[in-house]
Amino acid sequence: MEIINRRQRMASLSKKIRRENKTVGFVPTMGALHEGHLSLIVEARQMCDVVIVSIFVNPAQFNEKEDFNKYPRDLTADAAILANYQVNYIFAPEAQEIYGENFSTYVYVENLTETLEGASRPGHFRGVATVVTILFNTIRPDFAFFGQKDAQQVAVIQRLTTDLGFDTEIVVAPTIREETGLAMSSRNARLSAEERQRAAVIFQSLRQAKIAYRGGERNASRLAEIVRQTIEAEPLARIDYVSAVDAATLAPIERIAENPVLIAVAARFGNVRLIDNIILNKKQ
Ligand code: AMP
Repeated sequence: MEIINRRQRMASLSKKIRRENKTVGFVPTMGALHEGHLSLIVEARQMCDVVIVSIFVNPAQFNEKEDFNKYPRDLTADAAILANYQVNYIFAPEAQEIYGENFSTYVYVENLTETLEGASRPGHFRGVATVVTILFNTIRPDFAFFGQKDAQQVAVIQRLTTDLGFDTEIVVAPTIREETGLAMSSRNARLSAEERQRAAVIFQSLRQAKIAYRGGERNASRLAEIVRQTIEAEPLARIDYVSAVDAATLAPIERIAENPVLIAVAARFGNVRLIDNIILNKKQ
């Protein structure tokens, strides 16, 4: 395993790998690796000849300076973990390597980026779309792996990949959870022990909605209301949003019919903001 800091070296290595007719799997991360990230890496390892993991805390996607500054960073620890997962390369550039002097070109994905997370975090998806474009252009992966936990990010990346014609297949992997059901996140470490226990209510609320859906409830606002009421019963939680939207277009819906529906939640516990979601579709 090699750690690469320079974009040009990453690009030429990746080009060489592709020339050898090997498939490149790419897993973009911000580090502070947990089992959620590792599940993507295991999948990439199974599907691809060469696995590249990027570790880059992308300043452009943080709208709160404090959140960016507090984001956990430990490349040595992350590299030690990745060495056990047969990762071939870690791409860990400095911010100046990605956003050089006079950087002025941003990627903005219309329609999908102003609601849900985008409404609470202005500019977030512009930062995500821009860095993913730069990383895809550098690495040109055959497959790129993303977690369902960030459902809106998945919708944005799929749109971006289609619209800009990247020759990369997007693979989406299920959300990995702690034993309580809380979705794994690097931010969970900032919860107190009590908050971490109580934050399991988010998953419980989504499960309640799924049970109601299975029981025949097809009214999207009523399902969202079940989620809202379950979380509101937990005094440590402050809801940011609960929304039921079309999983691909993220447009609000009223009745669940053919298309998969995303129920997405963001809630704060103390000063930590957590997100989670489920997809409801006919198969369930
Ligand atoms: P991040 O380091 O938070 O930018 O996440 C990197 C990738 O890991 C993204 O595609 C996330 O969606 C994915 N990811 C983060 N947490 C989880 C989780 N609990 N389960 C599955 N994937 C996750």
